Amino acid sequence: MIILKGKETALTIREELRVEIDSLKSEHGRAPGLAVILVGQDPASEVYVRNKKIACEKSGIISYAHHIDGGVAQQELEDLIKKLNADDKVDGILLQLPLPKGLDSQRCLELIDPGKDVDGFHPMNVGKLMLGLPGFRSCTPAGIMTLLERYNLPTSGKKAVVVGRSNIVGKPLAMMLMQYGDFANATVTVCHSRTANLAEEVKSADFVFAAIGIPKFITKDMVKQGAVVVDVGINRTDDGLVGDCDYAALEDVASAMTPVPGGVGPMTIAQLLINTVQAFREHNA
Ligand code: NDP
Repeated sequence: MIILKGKETALTIREELRVEIDSLKSEHGRAPGLAVILVGQDPASEVYVRNKKIACEKSGIISYAHHIDGGVAQQELEDLIKKLNADDKVDGILLQLPLPKGLDSQRCLELIDPGKDVDGFHPMNVGKLMLGLPGFRSCTPAGIMTLLERYNLPTSGKKAVVVGRSNIVGKPLAMMLMQYGDFANATVTVCHSRTANLAEEVKSADFVFAAIGIPKFITKDMVKQGAVVVDVGINRTDDGLVGDCDYAALEDVASAMTPVPGGVGPMTIAQLLINTVQAFREHNA
């Protein structure tokens, strides 16, 4: 079985970007800038934000951290987003979710300038994805597509089953598998909590994508021999971080699989860097 090493691939991408950013800096007199807004003290979000900051620094992107109190008023948060929209040094804006209770995240996401929406969550970018137009692609699914591409695992003509239909993973991933350049063109099935015969659906897949949030949900008997398995899940358990797939058992059946940790997670961050450089290029075009 091939281990799809997201961590290694992400490091390679970061190095490639560092060289690209160096030359962009000498051409334009400044480096790309990413503003990251973290509201409150969610421990998992703090870890994600720290990792994003480190990745930015190592690639040459300047990160502007805005860590604000969980008790912030909606208006104050909106004012910050507007300020960042108008700031020429800021090419990308990332609002770390979830927001503390009482704050309207959808309203905030819709306030972000679509040209700085490097997370790809603004309805404008989601709509562009749906229409197959260029725009910012949300980082986790786009990072998965990049990983498959780097391992030369085209999904074209294959049957892909995505388990999970969230707005940040399942739905955009299904769209990308359908039409992400020549590399995609899969026949896609999306499963969720109301799917009848989920095990049968998954068993028919050449590519399985698990984005559920339940540890070891995808078991050996659900996966076809030779299938490629991409595990998006990050579940904190007494045994540490585990994915949505029973990794040890699947080693016998999958032809390739992402580990957790070290698979999709680092690719999400790599894609954020790619999107920020894309935003910089568009602002300087
Ligand atoms: P959500 O909770 O938003 O969505 C979970 C999806 O799984 C829903 O569509 C839900 O169906 C479906 N589901 C839940 N229970 C079942 C079940 N018993 N049978 C079938 N489907 C089920 O999660 P996210 O998409 O945000 O995240 C999924 C996982 O991926 C989490 O572990 C999360 O931590 C991880 N994640 C990892 C990232 C990374 O960078 N690696 C980034 C983002 C998320 P329904 O819609 O019917 O309720």
